[in-house]
Amino acid sequence: MSKIQSDDWRRSGQDFLKGVKLIAQDYFLYSSDWDHDHCEFCMAKFSMNEGDLKRGYSTTDSYHWICEECFQDFKEEFNWEVIKK
Ligand SMILES: [Zn+2]
Repeated sequence: MSKIQSDDWRRSGQDFLKGVKLIAQDYFLYSSDWDHDHCEFCMAKFSMNEGDLKRGYSTTDSYHWICEECFQDFKEEFNWEVIKK
């Protein structure tokens, strides 16, 4: 049984992430146009700055990031396949 509710506040239309492959990796800057990303679910911040997340799960294009906690909470529902890097 999943511990999260169907109306969990972190849900906000992430259906596009269902069944995708995710890469478990250290955070890196995908583009020089910005310096951080947010978890697709809880909006936790990924960046090179102290106190921000330094590791997580990204889509294969490294455009979308998911934090460890949300990954654990949603991995069964979203049926993610994790690629090790
Ligand atoms: Zn999160």
